[in-house]
Amino acid sequence: MVCPFCSKEMEKGILSGDGRSGVTWKAGDKKASIIDKLGGSYKVGAAKYTLAAFTIEAYYCSACKKMIFDTDIEK
Ligand SMILES: [Zn+2]
Repeated sequence: MVCPFCSKEMEKGILSGDGRSGVTWKAGDKKASIIDKLGGSYKVGAAKYTLAAFTIEAYYCSACKKMIFDTDIEK
């Protein structure tokens, strides 16, 4: 995916987290593991924490410091 703000290529990765570990993003197709928490994943500063765990496929632009992911919403 090309960044809509700066037109550079974005890096595909997986957002994941739970209420204890915080929200992390790791490049590739798999969520961060326990081992990645020591070095291959990055904390997402914008995250607000709940008790529910989750993963989201998200693209990251390191130039703009933005992430993009597809979603719909449900009540
Ligand atoms: Zn960008």
